[in-house]
Amino acid sequence: MRAHAGARFAIPAGPLPYNAHATIGYIRHGRWEQVKVEDFRVKPGTSISLAEIDPDDTAGLKGKDDARDELKKIRMRISAMQERLWAEHRQSLLVVLQATDTGGKDGTIKHVFKGINPQGCRVWGFKVPSQEEADHDVLWRYHRRAPAKGMITVFNRSQYEEVLVVRVKQLVPKKVWEQRYEMINQFEEILARSGTRIIKLYLHISKDEQKERLRARLDQPDKRWKFSIGDLDDRARWDDYQRAFEDAINRCSTDYAPWYVIPANHKWARDVIVARAVLKTLEDMNPRFPPEEPGLDEVVIPD
Ligand code: ADP
Repeated sequence: MRAHAGARFAIPAGPLPYNAHATIGYIRHGRWEQVKVEDFRVKPGTSISLAEIDPDDTAGLKGKDDARDELKKIRMRISAMQERLWAEHRQSLLVVLQATDTGGKDGTIKHVFKGINPQGCRVWGFKVPSQEEADHDVLWRYHRRAPAKGMITVFNRSQYEEVLVVRVKQLVPKKVWEQRYEMINQFEEILARSGTRIIKLYLHISKDEQKERLRARLDQPDKRWKFSIGDLDDRARWDDYQRAFEDAINRCSTDYAPWYVIPANHKWARDVIVARAVLKTLEDMNPRFPPEEPGLDEVVIPD
């Protein structure tokens, strides 16, 4: 018997009280508000240009206070949905986060996934491959960290590094990384067919914003540990990275594993948009509590 069985939650087990497939919603200022996240999803078969997407977009949020209120509410809903996902134990969610340096992956994870039951959530970061990882096929280290049933897993960097840093720094020949888009699509399809929902989020900041954030790291003693002189080398390759991100997004946004481009110059807006995308996905997955054992109403707990 799983730990959840028989638990009585305040959340109704039936369908949610609105059309989860079109929008998400919540009570705001005493009114039911519907919020669209589709605007940020890259539709399969279309081609985006990052230069045409405004990183300052705040998705209709009026400011930090507005965002804080909304984030709190969405987080409660994410947490409730995660409880169901865990109880149901049939599906899983993989959230892939990618960004340029200082793009805000760490902050996003900290703010959006705060409050989730740690038993049902894992975060994996991917750095330069270890010897063991490099000795296996290119997707091995990602596959072994993919979520188990009932889990939410966040990838802080991901399989996409194999067509980002590897491409920009020419760590393998073009004919090798060129094949990887298709391999990644196939890999994600395998996960999707096995019950894993995947969303991929690119945190989109401007080059000016990156400069500000790098400067802030230098100026604040408790942020200096985050500064690496190597980041300047990556900044010098800004255009190459943007092109590599565009190709990854355009070639790998699929129905089963869509990419979202998240405007991320304003951290407070970024967190809310990411939270909306996560919640919308969980609601589409519609996890249900398993049926209770028959006869529970007659159960008397012995002294
Ligand atoms: P983060 O920037 O995510 O907080 P680090 O500062 O430790 O973490 O950076 C991890 C580094 O690992 C990045 O420079 C990234 O480009 C590099 N990296 C990740 N995956 C690969 C890979 N497959 N091949 C080469 N380098 C990689």
